[in-house]
Amino acid sequence: MSGVEKTRHLLLVFPHPDDESFGKAGTVLLFTKAGTPATLICGTLGELGRNMGNPPFANRETLPKIRKKELEDACKALGVGDLRLLGLRDKTVEFEDPEYVADRIEEVIREVNPSIIMTYYPKYGVHPDHDALSHATVLAVKRLPKEERPVVWGSVVVRNAEEVVGKPDFVIDVSSVFEEKMAAMKAHKSQYQGLFARMEEQMASSPEARAEVIASLSTERYWVVPIED
Ligand SMILES: [Zn+2]
Repeated sequence: MSGVEKTRHLLLVFPHPDDESFGKAGTVLLFTKAGTPATLICGTLGELGRNMGNPPFANRETLPKIRKKELEDACKALGVGDLRLLGLRDKTVEFEDPEYVADRIEEVIREVNPSIIMTYYPKYGVHPDHDALSHATVLAVKRLPKEERPVVWGSVVVRNAEEVVGKPDFVIDVSSVFEEKMAAMKAHKSQYQGLFARMEEQMASSPEARAEVIASLSTERYWVVPIED
């Protein structure tokens, strides 16, 4: 049992195409397969990304278009029927006015009325865009009356996650949707190959390493983000 059940509405708030899939696709799939409607707010098109495919099939000019299409394909694979693009600039989310970004997120929250929001855990998202968008998400949630606030599930990316944030609140077994999870990740063709190559390399190094990679892909962890007034 994964422990994931249908909920009123799932809202995902992430800055880059692929954030919604890498490390989270299994959980999203379990929610949507249980009949949960889902909305993804994607902050940027990841247009400054360094990965152009391998062999390269994108260039600086075509990358945003390609990543947008990959994101749409991933949404299909995930059962996410509603995609909202904020149109922010890649790698500059931290320089936006957080209250302005929170306004945009709040608008969507009020419209879709999510019971759960998935985003990065503020300060532990590793990338400044991740932390800036999760911070704005918390600001948006804070504006709601306490009894109407959705639960915010944060992804912690730092390696020593349990040391800095403690034990995860949710450890989701996603092995039942493993193939679909991989399909969502692979939809991000321009980004996937680098990651896949590293995984393959690790898996080939020893049977233990192989088991470790498969185990890490079969489990997804979340920490409830405290919303303090
Ligand atoms: Zn990202």
